[in-house]
Amino acid sequence: MLTEKPLSTKPLSTPLPATGVRPSSPDVVCWMGGGFVPLAEARVGVMTHAFLYGTATFEGIRAYWNEEQGQLYGLKVREHMSRLADSAKVLLMEPLMGTDELVALVVDLLRRNGFRQDTYVRPTLYKSTEAIGVRLHNLDHSMVIFAVPFGEYIATDRGISAQTSSWRRNGDLSIPARSKIVGAYANSAFSKSEAQLNGYDEAIVLTHDGHVSEGSAENLFMVRDGQLLTPGVADDILEGVTRSAMMDLARREMGLETIVRSIDRSELYIASEVFLCGTGAQISPVTSIDHRTVGDGHAGPITERLVQLYFDAVRGRLPAYQDWLTPIY
Ligand code: PMP
Repeated sequence: MLTEKPLSTKPLSTPLPATGVRPSSPDVVCWMGGGFVPLAEARVGVMTHAFLYGTATFEGIRAYWNEEQGQLYGLKVREHMSRLADSAKVLLMEPLMGTDELVALVVDLLRRNGFRQDTYVRPTLYKSTEAIGVRLHNLDHSMVIFAVPFGEYIATDRGISAQTSSWRRNGDLSIPARSKIVGAYANSAFSKSEAQLNGYDEAIVLTHDGHVSEGSAENLFMVRDGQLLTPGVADDILEGVTRSAMMDLARREMGLETIVRSIDRSELYIASEVFLCGTGAQISPVTSIDHRTVGDGHAGPITERLVQLYFDAVRGRLPAYQDWLTPIY
């Protein structure tokens, strides 16, 4: 199949920017509509339905560089691609290829770019018909996958401050939060900007009935009386890949079974630990919420242990978690 360019692991001739910026180097390629093209030339038309109405779904996948092993590891690529297929179904689309092929495509893309640093991969499946008229049916769809070098999205090495958002999470009866729908990220943007413009690092967003849902782009966990808790899938959360990974680590490494139940806003104020997690965010301790100090104002012991375990696992330093990883080279 896709053999336009031989696989290469050599470093790029042009240095790349540190985080999430479109690289201008002509060496960087993306996959679009059936083949590899320079990222700098990948464009969609201004009348594309997804651009006009947000009718698209996407995934965010990280790949971690391990310097000692000279290896780049795709993290939970299969799980992300399987969620992409689920989101596509909700939006009346099909993923255009099987999960195995999608995983292979991500490997191929990263190899072609020869990345030897932490990278973020963004597959997007979008309604590609160029037409006015809001609907989900009777539209073509297409796929693009790009990858860019990526560092931290929010701090992981210090506690962050959070504000309960005045905005509500989009509910399942408006735009289902379980699917990563592009248009729904306007909701996340409202919350994130409100929090940051008010001087906080992140937002914590509630459901319409006032329960804790999640961060603007992260799932939320709290520790209370030594128990680890997280909101359930009926509280308008994205069913996070990192959320499952945290539960896995807590159970296998610490004997902690996560309790999944609804959480009240005021419960967060008296929690001993709170953290946010997600592919972009990784794991970020929350040490103050709405001017209340969480615990003693530092990352707590359970959060600290999970941070350590998570970064060891994703960089391929824990053999027991090798099945989370897809080696790229
Ligand atoms: N919630 C939202 C709204 C998100 O955008 C993300 C990031 N994808 C998450 C939670 C975390 O999900 P994951 O761990 O699968 O990246």
